Parts: sequence; C-alpha cells; structure tokens
Amino acid sequence: MSDLISKEALITALKEKQLRVYYQPKYDIRGDEPRLKGAEALVRWAYPAISEQLDNSTTKVMTPDMFLPLFEQEGLLHELDLYVWTEAARQISAWKKELGVTVPVSVNISRMDLYDSGLSETLLRIIRENGIRTNDFMLEIREADYVEDAEGVTRAVENLRDHGFRIVMDDFGRGYSSLNMLIALPIHVLKLDMKYLSSSNDIEKIQQMVRFFTDVADYLHFDIVAEGVETAEELQLLKKHGCSQVQGFYYSEPMRAEQFSALLTNG
Ligand code: C2E
Ligand code: MG
Ligand code: MG
Repeated sequence: MSDLISKEALITALKEKQLRVYYQPKYDIRGDEPRLKGAEALVRWAYPAISEQLDNSTTKVMTPDMFLPLFEQEGLLHELDLYVWTEAARQISAWKKELGVTVPVSVNISRMDLYDSGLSETLLRIIRENGIRTNDFMLEIREADYVEDAEGVTRAVENLRDHGFRIVMDDFGRGYSSLNMLIALPIHVLKLDMKYLSSSNDIEKIQQMVRFFTDVADYLHFDIVAEGVETAEELQLLKKHGCSQVQGFYYSEPMRAEQFSALLTNG
C-alpha cells in the first residue's frame, strides 16, 4: 500500500478534504433503554483513485490502519490530527446551532502530539474558535503510549487537565499497565477494550476483570466506557457489572456526520 500512495497524495488528501470524520455513538446503558451520550471522532480517507472504482457505499473508504502509518512516516500525522480536531469541534458547534443539542465528542491524540509544547494552546484555540466548551471535547490517550513513557505522558496529561480538558485512557486492558498508573494518572474516563478482554474466552475471568475495573473506576471516580462491544452477551455482562457506557458495533458502526444528525433527530 505504501508503494502505491505517494507523499503528494497524502498532502492532497489534507488540502482537498478527502479525509472524513466519522462519529461512533456512545450509549449510557444504565436505564432500561440505552441513551445516546456522545461520540468518538474517527478519521476515514475517501481516496479518489480507489473510490472511483468502487460504488458510493460509505463503507468503501479507507480505515485508519491503512493510512495512519503513512502519514506518520511522512511527518504528517500532526496535520491529520489537527484536521480531525478542527472538524470535530466545528461539528459539535453545528449540532448545537442546528439541533440545539450538545454532543460531547472525544478525539484521538497521537503520542507525538503529546510532546508538542503548544498542544494545549492549539486545542484551546480550536475550542474558542468554535464556541464550544473544553468539557465537551474529550481527549483519548492510549494506554500503550503511557507505558512507553509514563513520565512524559503524565506531564502532558496534567497540563491538558489543568486547562480543563477531560482525559480518556484509550484501549485499556491490553495488559500493559499497572494499578499504580491508574492511581497516578489524572484521567476522567477509562475506556475498556472488550476485544482484548474477550480474547481470553474464559467467561468467568472476563466477568472478574470487568467487575474489578468497574470497582476501581468507582473508587477512583472515573467514568468507564466499554468499547468494541459486539454482542448482546457482552452488553448484558457489562450491565450486570455496573459499566455505565458502551461503544461498539452492537449498537452502531462509526457513521458520517449526516447520519449522526439523523440519529440525534429521530432517536
Ligand atoms: P480507537 O481510538 O481505539 O477507536 C476504536 C476503533 O474500534 C475504531 O476503529 C472503531 O471503528 C473500532 N470499533 C468500534 N466498535 C467496534 C466493535 O464493536 N468491534 C470492532 N472489532 N471494532 C470496533 P478505526 O476507526 O479503524 O480506528 C482505529 C484506530 O485508529 C483508533 O482506535 C485510533 O487509535 C486510530 N485513529 C482513528 N482516528 C484517528 C485520528 O483522527 N487520529 C489519530 N491519531 N488516530 C486515530
Ligand atoms: Mg480512541
Ligand atoms: Mg480504543
């Protein structure tokens, strides 16, 4: 793939708005009926050379695993992230103006973004220019990035938190980190990765881990979101053990902003 896509194509993608931001709903599952609580912004690339040969189905766009490494190799990942953050903030503002609803959206932060001393300023500028609140713009930071450099990531996270941003620890449960990290790191939301928890195939063990993490989250006053929820069984297990929010194919795949607007309007 990397041989087929030149650096110029990546620059064109950024300039000509071929990158699309999709939104995957998060639901509060505590009541009888699930309640829409927010979304995660996920980037897609409608690459013309490929999409011309395909039909117009919204699923026929490239997913990040196919192109994020290329942007990273070419030193363009920060530009991509900046594009996604700006677009997500504009969309939160549009939903507020057009539909009168505030949709908290989380965006992904790359490891290299955390070493940019201007990160808080950049994010605050985006927030300000779109008239939204830091509370409604959550930042997802991966557990693996923390493990690579606990000190550096903690410093960056503390700074972002001091500026009012809400921090989500993404992809938690892939087995790298310790309880110490949860106690030391100033986060607001723990995102449990069901794909990794479920890989054990031992239902008893999965239940114990979910229970353990929901207890820890309670004790440390984090919210907990389970991601990658695909089945009714997983949903029931999460409900039973006090997990408050879920995101996953069981409810919905990531969708275009227009589809998300329809969801907001029609329920
Ligand atoms: P992530 O942040 O952990 O995002 C969740 C991923 O899980 C998404 O993949 C989503 O489509 C997928 N997913 C959601 N529900 C389910 C489910 O029930 N089952 C399964 N099997 N998968 C599910 P996606 O969109 O392909 O993104 C992959 C990763 O790429 C993201 O993982 C994130 O780390 C990264 N990424 C996405 N957008 C951006 C971005 O704008 N900037 C940066 N730096 N990274 C991004
Ligand atoms: Mg994420
Ligand atoms: Mg994740």
